[in-house]
Amino acid sequence: MNFLVTGGAGFIGSAVCRHLINNTDHRVVNLDKLTYAANLSSLEAVSSSDRYRFLKGDIADRDTVAALLREEEIDVVMHLAAESHVDRSIDGPADFIKTNILGTYQLLEAARGYHAALTGERRDRFRFHHISTDEVYGQLPLDGGLFTEETRYAPSSPYSASKASSDHLVMAWHHTYQLPTVLSNCSNNYGPYHFPEKLIPLVILNGLEGLPLPVYGRGENVRDWLFVEDHARALVMVATKGEIGRSYNIGGRNERTNLQVVEAICDTLDALAPLEDGRSRRTLIEFVTDRPGHDLRYAIDASRIESELGWQAVENFETGLEKTVRWYLDNEAWWRPIRKGRYAGERLGKAAAG
Ligand code: NAD
Repeated sequence: MNFLVTGGAGFIGSAVCRHLINNTDHRVVNLDKLTYAANLSSLEAVSSSDRYRFLKGDIADRDTVAALLREEEIDVVMHLAAESHVDRSIDGPADFIKTNILGTYQLLEAARGYHAALTGERRDRFRFHHISTDEVYGQLPLDGGLFTEETRYAPSSPYSASKASSDHLVMAWHHTYQLPTVLSNCSNNYGPYHFPEKLIPLVILNGLEGLPLPVYGRGENVRDWLFVEDHARALVMVATKGEIGRSYNIGGRNERTNLQVVEAICDTLDALAPLEDGRSRRTLIEFVTDRPGHDLRYAIDASRIESELGWQAVENFETGLEKTVRWYLDNEAWWRPIRKGRYAGERLGKAAAG
């Protein structure tokens, strides 16, 4: 089949493109605006494939998207393009409204027009898969509960509110116009090629260089960690086997406090690349003023995707983290240019986890 992946030069989108090219026979067209978060070098392993094409463009440009859908005879849209960093949404929400809400609206309209003109098997095959976050559900108490697909939406940051809006648009386009949509909401991803303003890569790289490891508040906030390659596999399953109109929660069943995550990174780095003076990296941890409105805990009940689609996470947090740390140790050429100052911002550089 022919896949259109939006945001395919980002962290998860590039993992989806690599998975589709390396492990399936599908064709991939990657449409990405190349914002600060994009990195085409994450796609070097697949960019020479004759089943892969990259196009620089904005999802909000409806005419371009509509032409692309027709020319490439797209069967499946996997929509990952978004502004995705919570701290940036607090400092400047405008781009989140523009891309996540208005951009998704334009993409839905392009897909609706395209789908309406399809006939026969190609019409039956077409799917629009919207990729979203568990942050749309708001926060859970520290002492229990899981997000299911029935949990009420209660977003609390500009980022999660913009994603929740886009989810509602997708569900409405299915309900009102019968656009064949599937939706997935996932927990915090980590793994190779992760932009180093997010918690795990930031702490790995600061730790490697012996720099302070800033942690919000007392590091008590809990996230449910999902290895990005497990997620990419899950997404292709949802896109190809998911039931139309249904949504799927995807999580790794790996809840950790932020402090536990940072300490685990310290210990892994100490084992693989000890500091010259022999100090434990845990001595570099610094607690900093908390993020405004910081959600306490997210945790996913992934029973539906596990039982209905047969997906299972392969990596647990320990195996996934070791793979991730080793990848950053081996791939300085990927992260060094980004660390040298392609990004800046008041709250950035602090350890934020989704
Ligand atoms: P990312 O920020 O790494 O990548 C986003 C990509 O989208 C970038 O390549 C960027 O250039 C592109 N993009 C932004 N605006 C665009 C536009 N207007 N048109 C075309 N391309 C545009 O994000 P990610 O971490 O890979 O997340 C991908 C999706 O998964 C997002 O929708 C995000 O909300 C969702 N998600 C991410 C996580 C996570 O832990 N990273 C968790 C849950 C859900």
